[in-house]
Parts: sequence; structure tokens; C-alpha cells
Amino acid sequence: MLQNILLTREIYASEEHNMMREMIRDFIHNEILPQTDKWEKNGMVSREIWERAGELGLLCIDMPEKYGGSGLDFSFNALFIEELGKKAVSGPGFSLHTDIVAPYLLKYGTEEQKQKYLPQMALGKLITSIGMTEPNCGSDLRAITTSAVDKGDHYLVNGQKTFITNGFMCDMSIVAVKTNVGTEEEGVSLLIMESAWDGFDKGVPFKKIGMKAQDTCELFFDNVKVPKGNLLGKEGKGFKIMMTELARERLTVALNAIGGAEGAIENTIEYTSTRTAFKQPIAAFQNTQFKLAECATQLQLHQAFLDRCTQLLSEDKLTAESASMAKYSATEMHSRVVDECLQLFGGYGYMWDYPIARMYADNRVARIYAGTNEIMKLLIARGLFRE
Ligand SMILES: Cc1cc2nc3c(=O)[nH]c(=O)nc-3n(C[C@H](O)[C@H](O)[C@H](O)COP(=O)(O)OP(=O)(O)OC[C@H]3O[C@@H](n4cnc5c(N)ncnc54)[C@H](O)[C@@H]3O)c2cc1C
Repeated sequence: MLQNILLTREIYASEEHNMMREMIRDFIHNEILPQTDKWEKNGMVSREIWERAGELGLLCIDMPEKYGGSGLDFSFNALFIEELGKKAVSGPGFSLHTDIVAPYLLKYGTEEQKQKYLPQMALGKLITSIGMTEPNCGSDLRAITTSAVDKGDHYLVNGQKTFITNGFMCDMSIVAVKTNVGTEEEGVSLLIMESAWDGFDKGVPFKKIGMKAQDTCELFFDNVKVPKGNLLGKEGKGFKIMMTELARERLTVALNAIGGAEGAIENTIEYTSTRTAFKQPIAAFQNTQFKLAECATQLQLHQAFLDRCTQLLSEDKLTAESASMAKYSATEMHSRVVDECLQLFGGYGYMWDYPIARMYADNRVARIYAGTNEIMKLLIARGLFRE
């Protein structure tokens, strides 16, 4: 089977990783998968699953214990992301919360901000999101128009965000806004905004072609008063912070993609070994074998590169270009693998009851979000021609 031929992955080989893997698998199998249908109908997961993940120490895994995290290194986050990908779990936006919002606070937050939000985040009692994209701009983030006007002890925020992961369930969002509009100091700043505040509204979760249990939605701000103490990092430095932190976000998308590809191949080996045509298993046809051999080869190549990237990220050395290569290449590979695998399921591959169908629908967005793959190539190319 697949595990017999893939190289041992040293980054996940310790006893602690094995124990964590077992725990994650039980959690997914017993507590997540049985709820998928219900969550897909509701367009969102339950708050209980967030709190359960918090109880198990699966949120904010690499955050220091003094803020309620598990104090482990990033490879444990990576393991969790891959395991979720393998089983096509796309409802709870755990990774966005753990791997994007928490590091923003940890790196750029004041002690007061960290104490207020991080322990609640680690417990899953405070769900978070990040609001960058707006109806009129996604790739070109400098063009955002949500504004924050300085009113002395607070900012007055007006504008709108869209396609926000965890948007409907979030209690807090890190929101990119324009400050000092029309002056020489005009720039992007980041504000920590609580969804219970007056003037902060949410749209209903979007109906998407995949990730149906994920509460992706719009956020609206109508004269929201944000205390000055909720500025994250320095005023006008938001764009730089986002560009620095996007490397980690891109790696997490790539990790989910290789987990997804592995899950798809495993599923397909199992299915084609039992389904028969012309009096033999589908797996006996050379076409099936060659297709799966190609998929397994691509998976292994990407695992090797991503293991290196994971290690570099843990050491704070992952470059924007390598993260972009990982995101672009792994998500393209994942799409190809899932497409080939679905074909080998025949008509059943098109049926929602089969995980391969969900994998097919879910994976498509990975080439679009966290920066489109075209933008990834732009960033890589920029590095190539930098003096
Ligand atoms: C399910 C989902 C979840 C999301 N979650 C979040 C979230 O939590 N927070 C958040 O802020 N955003 C989120 N997004 C938004 C996502 O990051 C954006 O959709 C993405 O960055 C692309 O922006 P856009 O949709 O505005 O596309 P556009 O920027 O309008 O791009 C349209 C097309 O033009 C191409 N293009 C644009 N510029 C160039 C260029 N210079 N060269 C070549 N081609 C170019 C793009 O690659 C794309 O193919 C999410 C999106 C989805 C679908």
C-alpha cells in the first residue's frame, strides 16, 4: 500500500508525533466525520467542536504555554493540517485560527492583547478570522478601501470584507484597514475587532461549490468604534506584516494539499482493489496502476520539499519565494491527483457520498485563496529578477 513505498518522514517520526497522530485520527474519525453531513446542511460547524479541539490541545499548538498553547514546534501543526486534509475535513477553519491569527498576535501584539485573546483562542472559546479581501480587491491588497479614521482614543471604521473564512462564527477578526487616508502617512494598518461591537455585522455564509461546512462570509463595518489599544503592530505597517506572515499561510495551504493528495490516493487504491470490471479489479488494469504510480511519485516529491519548508518555518527561515513555490506547486499537484483519482471511481466518484467527490470540490479553492497561484508565480519571478 501507499505507506509501504513512501519514504519515512523524519519530521513526523518521533514518539510525540506518533501519539499526536493517533489522537488526531481518533478525533477526526469519532467526532468530526460523523457530523459532516449536518454541518454541510447548516453551512457551518458547531462551537462545541472548536472547544473540543481546544480541550485536546489542537488549537494554537506551537504557541507558548504561558498563553495557553501547547508549546510544541510547528511540525505538530503541520501534522494536524495534513491529517485534516487526508480526510477532506474542510469545515472548521482551525488552521486559519492557529496558523495565521495566533502568530499575528504573538509576533505583533502587545502583552495586553496577547493576554486578552490568546488563552481564549487556545481553548476554542474565541473563534477568529482575518479580513483582508474586499468586494473590489483581493490580489491587489494595497487597494483596500475599508477606512479607520483617527478619533483620538479610538478609530471609526467603515467598510466591508468578503470571502472571510470563519467569518460567520468569528468572535474576533484581524481586519486590514486604511489609516490616514488622503495624507502622506496613508497606509494599511491592522485592527483587532470584536464581532459583538456595535456596527460590526456579518452576512450569511456563502453557498460554495466546495468546503460546504465552512462559514465563509462577508463582514460589514458601519461606524465601528475600535479602541486605539486594538491596533496590531504599528500604524501604517499592516501591509508589511501581512506580506511577512503570508509565507506561513501559504505553507499551511500546501500542507493541506499534500495531505489531501495522500488521502485521495489511499482511497483510490482501496476502491480500485475491490471494484471489478471485465472480471478483474479496476486496480489490475495497467492504466490504473500507471495513473496511481504517477500520483504517488508526485506526492512523494512534494512531501520532501514541504518537509524542508516545514523545518525552515520552524526555524523562522522560510522565504516568501519558497512558500509561494510550495503553495503553487502542491495545490496544482493536488488538483491533478484528485482529478485522476476521481476518474478511477467512475460514476461513483461523482456522488457526494464518496469522499473523493468532496475532495474534488474542496480542493479547487486552494489554487485561489491565500493568494492565487498566478500571484505566487509573480512573487517567485520577482525574486528571480531582484538585483
Ligand atoms: C473559500 C474562500 C475563503 C477565503 N478566505 C479568506 C479569508 O479568510 N480572508 C481573506 O481576507 N480572504 C479570503 N479569501 C479571499 C481570497 O484570498 C481571494 O479570493 C484571492 O486572494 C483572490 O482575490 P480575488 O478573488 O479578488 O480575485 P482577483 O484579485 O480579482 O483576481 C482574479 C483573477 O485575476 C488574476 N490576477 C490578479 N492580478 C494578477 C496579476 N498581477 N497578474 C496575473 N494575474 C492576476 C488572479 O490570479 C485571478 O485569476 C477567501 C476566498 C475563498 C474563495
